[in-house]
Amino acid sequence: MMTLPALFVSHGAPTLVLEDIPARDFLKGLGAAVGKPTAVLAVSAHWETDAPALSTVERPETIHDFYGFPEALYRLSYPAPGAPALADEAAKLLKEAGLAATMAPSRGLDHGAWVPLMLMYPEADIPVTQLSIQPHLGPAHHLAVGRALAPLRSQNVLILGSGGAIHNLRALAWREHDAPPAWAADFDRWLADHAETGDAEALVAYRKMAPNAEHAHPRDEHFMPFFVALGAGGKGAKGKRLHASFAHGSLSMAAFSFS
Ligand code: ZN
Repeated sequence: MMTLPALFVSHGAPTLVLEDIPARDFLKGLGAAVGKPTAVLAVSAHWETDAPALSTVERPETIHDFYGFPEALYRLSYPAPGAPALADEAAKLLKEAGLAATMAPSRGLDHGAWVPLMLMYPEADIPVTQLSIQPHLGPAHHLAVGRALAPLRSQNVLILGSGGAIHNLRALAWREHDAPPAWAADFDRWLADHAETGDAEALVAYRKMAPNAEHAHPRDEHFMPFFVALGAGGKGAKGKRLHASFAHGSLSMAAFSFS
């Protein structure tokens, strides 16, 4: 059995699978670089609930949870099997850590989960369960959720956080793919520096500590999966930046592994 790193990836716009940009090429190679897990626990920024919830569907549907995008995007599906046994195991670990989890028997895969997975593991043959986020409970809660789930890594389970290292939709420039604005570059650098030294304390306090945090994350739901991945790396985990690029001006596509 391999002990896999926990991953955080930025999934960008729903059109990522159709875009010829460096972040897509990176994700296309990431599955082979990481290896093939027995199952995936995907933590998407696009599923918010009051308390942690886990999908127990045997055959998760592909949810097209976006509007006004090219028709081709709505025809894509990612028919990976569900992972109800992994959902049970994760719920048990959360409960042991004092974090009550609920089971979601009809939840499919939203684009935060299937967009990166389609690029990483296009065969769609690895069972996947999704775990929800609770933005109202903030970074420390998500760090605790990740730490509770860390033992899954030694069972060849891939814990995949999927959100955005920077996510400010009002600051997007739809035709630019490089040269991020200075505020975004500064936040991105701060994030990488603190991830790489494993400074969980500063990262959890990012709203006070990081430059331009309010601008990088006006609402921080896209950043919460980062903290689950950081926590799942285990106490004292250090991050490795696997990828750095920007899409649509300020959208950081940074990705990290934690172990
Ligand atoms: Zn998103």
